[in-house]
Amino acid sequence: MPQRFCEAADGGLLVSVHRIRKNDTVVAISGVNAGKTGKVLKVLPADGKAIVEGLNVAKKALKKSQANPQGGFVDKDRPISLSKLMPYCPNCKKGVRTARVREGGVVVRKCKICRHAFGG
Ligand SMILES: [Zn+2]
Repeated sequence: MPQRFCEAADGGLLVSVHRIRKNDTVVAISGVNAGKTGKVLKVLPADGKAIVEGLNVAKKALKKSQANPQGGFVDKDRPISLSKLMPYCPNCKKGVRTARVREGGVVVRKCKICRHAFGG
């Protein structure tokens, strides 16, 4: 059985952990990245955050080193709060709420609007 809830750092239950999973395409619903979509690279349940490809990219300064004699910057995906993310439905072309539906013994998540099935 998949774990339904994850204990948050403050002891509360994080329901939102279950909405978003690795490899989901999600859309940011608030903040500077609002409206942007990306693929979830990693979910950090303990922090209530996820790392999403191309979202919340920060320039990370590199110290001068032998490999980088000039120093410089690299783009780094920073964790973004799960509460700012929603699963992105390709049919509805927007972030949607999902329903958990049991289908042939497996639970799938479906778009509440168009019933598009998301993985797992
Ligand atoms: Zn949909």
